[in-house]
Amino acid sequence: MDMRVPLSLSLTRRRLAFLMALGARVVREGTSLGDLSIFSLHMGYVPQGGGEHSSQVEAVQAISRLTGEEVGSFRNLLHWSVLGRLWALLTTSEHDFFVDTYPLTSDEQKSRWPEATDSHCHLDRLCAQVGMTLDENIWSHLRDRSPMIEVEVNLGALVTNFCDPHTYPNDALLQTLSKLRCFPTIGLHPKGAEKYRDSEIKEFIRLLGTPEVGGFGEVGLDHSVHYSEWLGQAVLLQRVLGYLEERHVLVLHCRGSTQDMDGREVNKRLLSILHGVVNRDRRIYLHCFRGDMEVFRAFTDAFPNTYVGYTHKTGDLTPGSLLALRTIPTERLLIETDAPYFTGPNIGPISSPTVVGLAARNVGMVRGESVNDVLTATVANFQRLYRLNWVGAVS
Ligand SMILES: [Zn+2]
Repeated sequence: MDMRVPLSLSLTRRRLAFLMALGARVVREGTSLGDLSIFSLHMGYVPQGGGEHSSQVEAVQAISRLTGEEVGSFRNLLHWSVLGRLWALLTTSEHDFFVDTYPLTSDEQKSRWPEATDSHCHLDRLCAQVGMTLDENIWSHLRDRSPMIEVEVNLGALVTNFCDPHTYPNDALLQTLSKLRCFPTIGLHPKGAEKYRDSEIKEFIRLLGTPEVGGFGEVGLDHSVHYSEWLGQAVLLQRVLGYLEERHVLVLHCRGSTQDMDGREVNKRLLSILHGVVNRDRRIYLHCFRGDMEVFRAFTDAFPNTYVGYTHKTGDLTPGSLLALRTIPTERLLIETDAPYFTGPNIGPISSPTVVGLAARNVGMVRGESVNDVLTATVANFQRLYRLNWVGAVS
């Protein structure tokens, strides 16, 4: 799916004005695009670094229609390697002048980015960490407080998992969030299994019954804690699974101990709990999947509607789990940030759903697929898993 909108006339006019002004600075006043092109060739600036992108060709054709100049006479200017070297001839204050004078509108900027979805994050924990309020302005909060973004995307929807009873949303917030396509799920994190009170479990069950809650979780097993807590996690899971409704996606957290990095043991244990209690056709999301191909097959054989999600941290996967990521069918794949967790040098101390493009890029690098291919597939899978559909930007 091509997410680009046609180049608007106003954008073309600004591009042309930018190139004319660039010519005036580096050659002389009144320089045509053809002259600027000849100047750059005389300077030894020849296109480098691969072929022409169709968007660049379209941009040059649109400019040619405006100026009447032959595309061929300034074709080399569509290569960013040439423009980059012309740009380098300007002074810092001239750079500032150009950036201020020819900005893209935010709509133009966004329309150039591919659409993405974040299948798993924790807006309640993110807001608490950075001192934001989780309310109807959450999208602008996320934009204002975004970490550095390496791969720009147009974030169309996300799933936010509430799994701490003390930050559970009220019914009004549930409605607000789902209208904003921040789809809420309600869970009980396995790491807290020992401490949940009956009143909290009751509230968990009540919230699961509200129509805005399309996901049950995250729940599951976490064997990264001391083994004395493992039994309590299994008992809690068995206790709550009875409240799963047909419309819920089961969101599972499953993490092995340091001796079980591929998660073979813990996933086996998890599957043995699900067998017989959960229907075979249940839609399941295995978030932050680190299993190998054997684990993936065990899950999808037992529950064919299982999807697996990966964060940007593909460098931490074991050889077995990397092979699984390379091999699993595209229609089972999702990407997530698990924000505010899974930080890194290219993100900063607190992650955000706005950096989900990085997961698409890293997953694509392992699978030999482009960022756009990963995003197109994962947006479609997200909509299928959660039975959601939308067109266009968040209202
Ligand atoms: Zn999580």
